[in-house]
Amino acid sequence: MKSKNFRNIVIVGGGTAGWMAASAFAKLLGTEEFAITLIESEQIGTVGVGEATIPMISMFNRVLEIDEDEFVRETNATFKLGIEFADWRRVGHSYFHPFGNLGVDMDGISFIHYWMRWARSGGNLDYSFFNAETEAARRGKFQRTDREESNLPRINYAFQFDAGMYAAYLRRFSEKRGVRRIEGRIDEAKQNAETGFVETLVLDDGRTIDGDFFIDCSGFRGLLIEQTLGAGYDDWSEWLPVNKAAAVPCEKVGDPLPYTRSTAYEAGWQWRIPLQHRTGNGYVFCDKYISEDEAVANLLSRIDGKPLADPRILRFVTGRRKKSWVKNVVAMGLAGGFLEPLESTSIHLVQVAISKLLAMFPNDGLNPSLVNRYNDEMSYNYEDVKDFLIAHYKVTEREDTPFWARVRNMDIPESLQAKLDIFATRGEVLATQTELFKETSWFSVLAGQGLTPKGYHPLADVVSEDELKARLSRIRTGIQERVISMPDHATFIAQNCAAAKVMM
Ligand SMILES: Cc1cc2nc3c(=O)[nH]c(=O)nc-3n(C[C@H](O)[C@H](O)[C@H](O)COP(=O)(O)OP(=O)(O)OC[C@H]3O[C@@H](n4cnc5c(N)ncnc54)[C@H](O)[C@@H]3O)c2cc1C
Repeated sequence: MKSKNFRNIVIVGGGTAGWMAASAFAKLLGTEEFAITLIESEQIGTVGVGEATIPMISMFNRVLEIDEDEFVRETNATFKLGIEFADWRRVGHSYFHPFGNLGVDMDGISFIHYWMRWARSGGNLDYSFFNAETEAARRGKFQRTDREESNLPRINYAFQFDAGMYAAYLRRFSEKRGVRRIEGRIDEAKQNAETGFVETLVLDDGRTIDGDFFIDCSGFRGLLIEQTLGAGYDDWSEWLPVNKAAAVPCEKVGDPLPYTRSTAYEAGWQWRIPLQHRTGNGYVFCDKYISEDEAVANLLSRIDGKPLADPRILRFVTGRRKKSWVKNVVAMGLAGGFLEPLESTSIHLVQVAISKLLAMFPNDGLNPSLVNRYNDEMSYNYEDVKDFLIAHYKVTEREDTPFWARVRNMDIPESLQAKLDIFATRGEVLATQTELFKETSWFSVLAGQGLTPKGYHPLADVVSEDELKARLSRIRTGIQERVISMPDHATFIAQNCAAAKVMM
């Protein structure tokens, strides 16, 4: 291993991943001890989609001390309380996967056990009515809440934003803090003949950029991690066969909803992401079951406003690099892997990659145990999300098209089968502390997709029938009171964080 201090950091790519990495490194490592350079090519451009997020992004903003209202204004963002899944279980059925909790956990066990006991003895209110985010989404309301403010439930949220504006916002943030940006197309990466470490990038006009440590955010092509270092790729399309997306923004119709909608269609699903100035749409499909032309035509016939551009086709293979960190290169974003955006996890995985790299950033040369640990942790994070995504396809009543028949009847990883078995036994998957999706997420999605648990935790039988009813009634009332007191989503934005100029 080469022994040196990594003071000269070069980030390849200026998409969401590149600028998130640049911002975090500039803020946390600083640009006095470290030189941070980002190279991007306008000629190549960025993927430019990636508009829906999960609540962890607020932590990224907090660490960078980003003012949330400014961030919402500058990215034309709206607030997101969860995802509505329409037609996933069967055509005509829909359910909501909310951020936040279902009810209130009691006596050391989760609320869902109490709800199951109550439902079994005739209680007829759907579990989703015990979730504040779902109730707010239903009523088109939004407000930030503090846990300390009252006994009423807190509102958990993420954002839906314009990916291009987000990268531009983070570029301003980074450049202000000393990140050097170079516009240019990289043609070649030169490696040390002995160690294989990347040392110099050669641009197409002959300029050369030297570095000690490289962060590969070059998108699907994986310029350094794959083309130079050949890390290899784990292909997961056996379980997640969608491989293309047609994306098109359209004019907004009405006030923006405080949630993302995913609608299942003949060969995949379509997203609808409302922003302040427009609506993002995309049909994620498998080209074995529908042609590109038909997918585009179907997408255009299903959007609710006038299209604002020609649809773009994006091609991908679901999976991840076998190693995220090889020699002095760490890959992030699409260069590190891609899981379809069904649960909006890509930007989160960039955030995980950044925080783990910062935590393990090498001081004096590379220690193989650190590199192995980083690779193991990133592998775990991708695998964890993978099983949750597969569950959306496997657990369904749909078999009405060859695509749905294929995914419903496919073999699934043992790790997921084990979770489904536990869930069928008693309504929880026993998610560990480190798993991204916890019991509320699994319950919302698996029950929403039609898997009914046979039993529940025995502790839920300990309280009396009257006490159970009283508790559930208190929780439901608290949720209603919380939501009724909230302003409409559009009103909240207008009063706090409306974009200065609504641009298309
Ligand atoms: C269909 C689809 C929908 C998505 N939806 C979501 C979502 O809702 N939520 C979410 O979290 N994520 C989503 N994602 C993922 C999200 O778009 C990406 O994770 C995010 O944009 C990060 O992309 P990136 O920066 O890795 O790559 P890119 O945006 O592709 O950026 C690559 C950068 O590398 C530069 N580059 C490449 N080669 C060279 C070269 N030779 N020389 C110089 N520069 C070079 C490019 O110019 C560009 O700046 C979606 C992705 C797809 C495909």
